[in-house]
This record gives sequence, structure tokens and C-alpha cells, in this order.
Amino acid sequence: MRILKFGGTSVGSAERMQALTSLIQSDAPRIVVLSAMSGTTNALVQITESLYQHNHQDANAQIDALQSKYKQVVAQLYTSAEKKTQANELLDQHFDYIRAFTQDLFTEHEERAILAQGELLSTALFQFYLEEQGINSVLLPALNFMKIDENEEPDTAYIARNLAAELAKHPQTTLFITQGYICRNAFGEIDNLKRGGSDYSASLIGAAADADEIQIWTDIDGMHNNDPRIVKNTYPIAELSFDEAAELAYFGAKILHPSSVLPAKQKNIPVRLLNTMEPSAKGTTISAESEGGKIKAVAAKDGITAIKIKSGRMLLAYGFLRSVFEVFERYKTPIDMITTSEVAISLTIDNDKFLDQIVAELKAFGQVEVDQNQTIICVVGDFIEERSGSSLEIFEALKAIPLRMISYGGSKNNISVLINTTHKVEALQQLNEGIFERNRTHA
Ligand code: ASP
Ligand code: MG
Repeated sequence: MRILKFGGTSVGSAERMQALTSLIQSDAPRIVVLSAMSGTTNALVQITESLYQHNHQDANAQIDALQSKYKQVVAQLYTSAEKKTQANELLDQHFDYIRAFTQDLFTEHEERAILAQGELLSTALFQFYLEEQGINSVLLPALNFMKIDENEEPDTAYIARNLAAELAKHPQTTLFITQGYICRNAFGEIDNLKRGGSDYSASLIGAAADADEIQIWTDIDGMHNNDPRIVKNTYPIAELSFDEAAELAYFGAKILHPSSVLPAKQKNIPVRLLNTMEPSAKGTTISAESEGGKIKAVAAKDGITAIKIKSGRMLLAYGFLRSVFEVFERYKTPIDMITTSEVAISLTIDNDKFLDQIVAELKAFGQVEVDQNQTIICVVGDFIEERSGSSLEIFEALKAIPLRMISYGGSKNNISVLINTTHKVEALQQLNEGIFERNRTHA
């Protein structure tokens, strides 16, 4: 089994949907996972916001506007009058369903039901298109097998069992279409895997079906070695290990949902990042076989807050770090980087929703300093067989930039530094110069 996931822009217009048929056809069995058409989930979020505010006038206008966009897609996608009618009836069903929420109480439950409509629409429209083209395929409802538990973690045993049962209903079929992003929760209600979650769906489906490959099709040619918006001459990284890819996905590379690496890693299924605009390009392959001992990429994550706690009590004390971490735990705030000295600890968070409360509690331990507008610069690669030069190369490149924190040795795949965001552009450019431009070994 092979999994092919197409993101919002890859199904973003009638033309783009039509172009997919040549990418998905094969005699080998495959499951095609689709996102909502680009812009749809954002539009649905806006509709839910209007509904929360009881602003039914805006909600209705937004629903009408979205439906007319879809009507245009239908007009362009199909050639037969019959399919056009069928598709327009489908639009009416989905949009009338959304409109019904303007009459009623609006809670999180209804919000999730509305957010699910984007993927339900894209997959149904695409299935109609395949039918019109005479391509044999089956639409698999993700709500029949994709599930999260009470901790919002995927219920992998349930997913594997129910996906197998769905597939077994169609022994003659080799092409399946299903929705990314949407799922049921522990209560059986419609829920989702959070924004960008279609990649995660693809990876969970791949793991559940013991796929031989998971392909993530987007509109760029893979993960780049540096931020192409800031640095010239970036290039797609041909190979990454699962761990390197997870670090990069978390620290900046928007192309892949960070959670989607783990299910593939656990089942050792290669993940390929491919470009629908340039299908023959090599893209990025994430696997256990990636070449070691190299610096692969540099990424930056903005919006970081650094917190330093200085305390005489830390000296020779045990249990101090635990007490500090418990404060963050109480406010469900993840910590990204930490460094310690004998009398102080510095750490970073990217969610500052409870910053004031956290700082107030930390003051019980000592002096607290907070720096906002910080950026984590993360250098990703395989540092275990370190040619003694790796860190030298990195710090030599960064010599003109004030470093607020350095984290080395936490994982063998990541060396991170924290800087003020005002120095980000310079840091990325200097690292590019110092690491990739000097020894262009990739060519
Ligand atoms: N449609 C959802 C979103 O825009 C899920 C996805 O595309 O991955 O976040
Ligand atoms: Mg995405």
C-alpha cells in the first residue's frame, strides 16, 4: 500500500484537481489523502467566529461567498451536466448544513462539525471527478476509522482495525480516496487533528496500513536547507533521518506537520516530500537510511520568550529544577530550550499565554528576568560522529551575533542558539555562508 497526501494548493482549483489524476494512477494499491481546498479551512474558521459572536448576518454572507466559490469549481471541474447537478446537490447539502447552525446554539461541538466540511467537500468532489473520468476508486470515510482518545492522542489500534475493515469491503479496488485532518474523538464526536493535520492523517494511515511509502505532495520541492525567504541559494535536502526531519518540522519548516514523523518512524516507512508543480523533482526523502555525520539544515523559530531564574537556593540543592518545571506544568506550557548554571536556569517557551502567572509564581524561587522577541536558531544534522569542526563552523559563522543561550548535546541532531529576533536575518545568512556555501558538497 502507498499513501499519497495532497495539500490545499494541490486540490486548490478545478485545474489542480484535474492534474492529480496523472499522479495517482497505478496498478498498485494506494490511499489518497486530501486536505480541504486552499483557503477553505480559514474561511470555515471565520464562519465559526461569526457564529460564536451571534453575528448571523456576517456568517450567512461568508457561507454564501464560500459556496459561490465552490459553484465555480463545479462549473469548471466536470464536463457532463449530470455530474454538475450531482456536485451542486452535494454543495447544497453541505452548505445548508453549515447554514443550519445560524439558527441554533453554537458550541465547540458545532464548530468542529463545521471545520470538517472542507475535507468532506474536497474528497467528494474529487471522487465525482474520478467517476466522470471512468477511474475506478472508492471514497473511504475517515470518520469511520480515524480516531483520537481522551488525551487527544491517536488511537492507533482502533485506526488500524477499522481502516482494515473499511478496505476489506472493497477487495477489487486499488484506489481509495479519504479525508485528512478529520477524525472522531473519545466521545465519538466529529473532531480534528488540529490545523495542518492532514499530514498527520497520512502518516497515521500509512502506519495503520503498513504502507511501503508515504508521499506528502505540496507546492514546494521538499524541505530546504535554510529559509528561502531570507537566504539566497537554498536547496532541497535530498535525505533526512526521521529525527532530523522532526526537529526541522518543529523548528520552522512549515512544509510538514511535526507530529507526522513519529508514526512513520515507528513503522520505518519512508516519507517523501514531493511537489505537484514539479512532479519529477526528487524532493526530500525522510527515512532511517539518511546519510550521517553532516550538517543538513538551519531553521529559525520566532516568537520565543526566554525566562531566567536566578537563585542562591539552587546552589548544591536538589529538587530545585523540579519545582521550577512544575510551575510550567501547572500552566500546560511546554519548555523548548534549557540551560543551567550552578545558580541560575534559563529556559524558553513559545506559548506566552500564561506568562504573567508563571513569572509571578517563579518569583518565589528568586530573581526572574524575561526577554521577549527571541528567536531559536536551530542547526540540524547528525552530530554524533562529529568531525571536531561542526560546532566551530557554527560559532565561527555566528561570531558577530550576541547569543542569549546555547544548547548542545540535548539531542544528537540539533544544536540550538537563542538570539534576539532583530539578528535573525543576519544569523541565517552568516550560517549559510559558513556552513553551506563554503563546502557545497551537495551539488
Ligand atoms: N485543512 C486543514 C487546515 O487547513 C488541514 C490541512 O490542510 O492539513 O489546517
Ligand atoms: Mg500543510
